[in-house]
Amino acid sequence: LHVTSDLSANAAVAPTLDQSRYLTNVMRLSRGDELLVFNGRDGEWRASVAETHKRGVILKCEERARAQTVTPDLELIVAMVKKARVETIVEKAAELGAARVRLTVTRRTNVDRVRLDRLDAIAEEAAEQTGRLDVPPVDDPMKLEAILDGWDPARKLMFCDETGGAPAIPALTAAGPGPWAILIGPEGGFSPEEGERLRSLPFTTAVSLGPRILRADTAAIAAMTLWQAAVGD
Ligand code: SAM
Repeated sequence: LHVTSDLSANAAVAPTLDQSRYLTNVMRLSRGDELLVFNGRDGEWRASVAETHKRGVILKCEERARAQTVTPDLELIVAMVKKARVETIVEKAAELGAARVRLTVTRRTNVDRVRLDRLDAIAEEAAEQTGRLDVPPVDDPMKLEAILDGWDPARKLMFCDETGGAPAIPALTAAGPGPWAILIGPEGGFSPEEGERLRSLPFTTAVSLGPRILRADTAAIAAMTLWQAAVGD
């Protein structure tokens, strides 16, 4: 269970009301029952149910089960596509180990609204299910130009280019340490001007995901899987 409070021996942990209801009504936990909690900073702790009452559950930290792991520093930047597909992309990014998900608006993006609270909940649920010890934040949509203008050149940006001829991801990621970013375009692809700018920047590399045109959610999953296979964890 993802919690926000600090975790240490004998610390009291107060999950949210929703989480408390889930623990008592769905998981049917009662006093003394144990579960694993993480907060993204202090590793994973075994905790027991100390109290259950109307206003929620109180857990008590017993012992640390796993040290905090540092998620390899991959940012997934994805142009906004239809709601269901963005939700799939966020869920798979959490499962495949992205440290952060950034939504972007490009010339051909035709979706401009997202429910960030829903995406955050999807990222948290996927992180709990997949057993990682942090939850990737999902950032507010930003224009691609603004993201590139403020880019930290130490981070290598692989932009997925379906127009052919680009190298595959493993060849690149094996070429050295991160931090990394993967950029996926919208349903209509990048505009010629965006492609030109991306090719002209010193910190970007075009990458191919194979000979077929993938939908944005498939491309995000394929790119992160190839990166994870090459980077290893
Ligand atoms: N421009 C094409 C179109 O209009 O159908 C493809 C856009 S594709 C649906 C969305 C994004 O997925 C592309 O902008 C690209 O970032 C990525 N993508 C899809 N297939 C790819 C491939 N074979 N190699 C690299 N990137 C790909």
